[in-house]
Amino acid sequence: MLSNNMSTEELQALDAAHHLHPFTSRKEINAAGARVLSRAEGVFVYDNDGKAFLDGMAGLWCVNIGYGRRELADVAHRQMQELPYYNTFFQCTHPPAVQLAARLAELAPAGINHSFFAGSGSEANDTNIRLVRHYWACQGKPEKSIIISRKNAYHGSAMGSGSLGGMKPMHDQGGLPIPGIVHIDQPYWYGEGGDKSPEEFGLERAKLLEAEIDRLGEANVAAFIAEPIQGAGGVIIPPSTYWPEISRICRERDILFIADEVITGFGRTGQWFASQTLGLEPDIMTIAKGLSSGYLPIGASLVSDSIVDVLTESGGDFNHGYTYSAHPTASAVALENLRILDEEGIVARVADSIGPYLSEKWETLADHPLVGEARSIGLMGAIELTPDKTSRAKFAGDAGYAGGICRTACMENQLVMRAVGDSMIISPPLVIAENEVDQLVERAAKALDQTLATLKLEGRYKAA
Ligand SMILES: *Cc1c(COP(=O)(O)O)cnc(C)c1O
Repeated sequence: MLSNNMSTEELQALDAAHHLHPFTSRKEINAAGARVLSRAEGVFVYDNDGKAFLDGMAGLWCVNIGYGRRELADVAHRQMQELPYYNTFFQCTHPPAVQLAARLAELAPAGINHSFFAGSGSEANDTNIRLVRHYWACQGKPEKSIIISRKNAYHGSAMGSGSLGGMKPMHDQGGLPIPGIVHIDQPYWYGEGGDKSPEEFGLERAKLLEAEIDRLGEANVAAFIAEPIQGAGGVIIPPSTYWPEISRICRERDILFIADEVITGFGRTGQWFASQTLGLEPDIMTIAKGLSSGYLPIGASLVSDSIVDVLTESGGDFNHGYTYSAHPTASAVALENLRILDEEGIVARVADSIGPYLSEKWETLADHPLVGEARSIGLMGAIELTPDKTSRAKFAGDAGYAGGICRTACMENQLVMRAVGDSMIISPPLVIAENEVDQLVERAAKALDQTLATLKLEGRYKAA
C-alpha cells in the first residue's frame, strides 16, 4: 500500500498543479483546496486530517456493501497472483468472466441471460448504442436506429453515453448529442407537474414516448432508454402511472427497452434490480457501480435471449469491445461482492427493514419549513428545498444557490449529501445501521436549519 507522508496542504497544492477533476471548475477547486479523503470504513469516509463524514452518497452511488470489506481485497490479491489480466477477445475466456456472467444470469429477470462486459457504465451504454443498431441491421432494418431517451437523464459521460443522457450542460460542450438520439420530457412531477395530479402527469409524460415514436416513424426507432429511477437528475421517482404506460407502449411497439440500472441495480431499491421492484421488462439492462460496490471499475450490458438469438444467427463478428471487458480481477471482485450482498441478506434488508426505516425517518424532514417534498424508494431519496411549501415554488435568484448552501452546511455537519439544483439527495451504503440513519437525518435537519438561517439573513428566502 502507498504510504501517505504528505500534509493536506502539500497534497492540495500538487493536486491543483497536476490533477484535472471531472465535473469540477478549476477556479473553484483551486480557490477552496480539494477535500482530501484518505480512508474509509463502513459508512464513514475520513479526510486527511482524520475527520469522519457520514457518506450519504455511498461514494458515487456505488459502495453498496460499505467500505473496508477485506474479502474483496483478498479476492483481488489472489486473482492478481493467478491471472491478473487476460482479454476476452478472439475466442478466449477465463474463470472469473464465466462465473460472473453465469451469476448475473441467475440474478437478472427471466429471459436476460447474457453479459457483455465493459469497464464502466458509460462504456456499457456506448455498447448498447452499437448493440441495438447492430441488432436491427442484422434483421435488414439498418434505418431502425434512433434511440429515444429523456431530458435530465444520466447515462454516462463518453461521447455516446453522454449523448444518451439529457443533461444540457454536458451537451453544451464537445458537440453532443451525436446524431440519432432524441430526448422526451421527464416524469418529474414535483418540478414540472404544475396543477396536475401526479397520476395524471405521469400518464401524460409516458404518452410522450408513443407520440415521439409516431413522429419519428416506428420503422426508424431502435430503442427507448431510461433509468427506472433517475439518479443524477435528482432521485426522481415517477408517478405510479408512468411505468405501466411506458411498458404498454414498449410492448405494443416494435422497439427495444434499455433499463439503465447502473444506480438502481444490486439492491438499491430492495430487489436485485429496480426492473423487478417496478415490474419492468427490459430487453437490455446497463449495470456498473454496485456491481463491484465500486471496489474496482466494471460495468456490463445484460442482454435478452431474443436479442442474442438474432446476433448468434446473423450477427457475425460484433466489431466492438474493450481491453478490459471482463477484466479478471474486476470480475472476481464483483463476484465476491455479489456473494456478500446475497449471503448477508443485504438486498433483502433494504426491502424488509432498513428501506422502510429510512423512509419513515426521511419523511420527517418534510415538516421542515424549507422542504417541499421528501421522497424515497429503497435506500435512495431526495428532499426539495422551497421558499413556499404549499405552492412548490422555486427560489428567486439563481437556481441551485440554496442547494449549494445546504450542501456546504451538510459538510460542516460531517454529512455527505449531494445537491442537484435545489434538491438534496442521498443514496447511502446499503449496510447503513438504524442508528446511522438517525444520525444522517439529524445532521440533515441541522443543515436545513442553518440553510434557512443563511437564506433569511441574505434576503434569499423568497419565491421567484
Ligand atoms: C453513473 C451512471 C452511469 C455511468 O457510469 P460510469 O461508470 O460513471 O461510466 C450510467 N448510467 C447511470 C444511471 C449512472 O448513474
